[in-house]
Amino acid sequence: MTRTRIAVVGSANIDLVVAVDRLPEAGETVLGADVVYRSGGKGANQAVAALRYGAETSLYAAIGRDTFGTQLANALADEGLDVYLRRDDDRPSGVALVVVDGAGANTITVSAGANDTLSSDGLADLGAALPETDALLLQLEIPLETALDAARRAVAHGVTVTLNASPLPSEITEALWELVALTDVLIVNETEARTLRAGGWDWAQRARSLLDRGPDVAVITLGAEGAVAAKRDQVVTQRGIPVDAVDTTGAGDTFCGVFAAEFSRGGDLRRAMAHACAAGAIATTRVGAREGMPSRTAVAAVLT
Ligand code: ADP
Repeated sequence: MTRTRIAVVGSANIDLVVAVDRLPEAGETVLGADVVYRSGGKGANQAVAALRYGAETSLYAAIGRDTFGTQLANALADEGLDVYLRRDDDRPSGVALVVVDGAGANTITVSAGANDTLSSDGLADLGAALPETDALLLQLEIPLETALDAARRAVAHGVTVTLNASPLPSEITEALWELVALTDVLIVNETEARTLRAGGWDWAQRARSLLDRGPDVAVITLGAEGAVAAKRDQVVTQRGIPVDAVDTTGAGDTFCGVFAAEFSRGGDLRRAMAHACAAGAIATTRVGAREGMPSRTAVAAVLT
């Protein structure tokens, strides 16, 4: 069987994670545990999720010419991804400062750094790869113009475009709607669905309302409750898989990577939803965004 080929154009960050008993108030200093360095970023995380699920996955990202950049480049290559990294001479690598308390509540501050420098110039290799690519997977931790450019190129090659519209910018611009209109599959969580003014009495209706913006499929993830997806003629409601969740970081990224990999294999929405929800649930059972990301076999085991 030929492997599905996924291209991810997105962010790569180093996450600096510090556990504390209690999150600090503004102006307060609290002492925390030893810092943990993790390779993160929505783009890189979703690429790893698709790869673990069995897709041949390439990542197009930008990092700094600093120590974190070298760590990121090594970590991504070790995963087995095909990485196309633009190294910027001036900006530092993207960093997420994560502080987590004993109850799992957190504050996250992201400094985009070199991710902001990922421009169309960094996508020359993507153009060459698109004829052999099944799906393009995008998020919003890179410049919107770059995401738009990647989406336009993918559309020109008949490649399925999946957009995880996260994080949403503070202002929803026409350029963002243009990107949504170019996507085949839009994936958002509940908060993002509300910000995009998804309307209706229930989540199925809200997902359906997002179709008016142009995508063929709109998916809203609902945390432990699962997810709902709408197409013009079909609604799929997938209940969450009950698990002992210890850390939900990366559940959304796992969902997106697996959904893109599975849906581009034949467009079976019910199957993509079941597999993505199972993978998202499994991801919550280990601490760290990538530590719990499952293989295809592990996902299948949960579903049988
Ligand atoms: P985000 O982190 O982007 O807000 P969600 O919290 O909606 O995304 O999680 C994405 C998916 O991961 C959900 O649709 C669900 O399938 C799975 N998931 C998340 N949290 C849990 C949980 N506590 N139990 C089971 N599945 C979960």
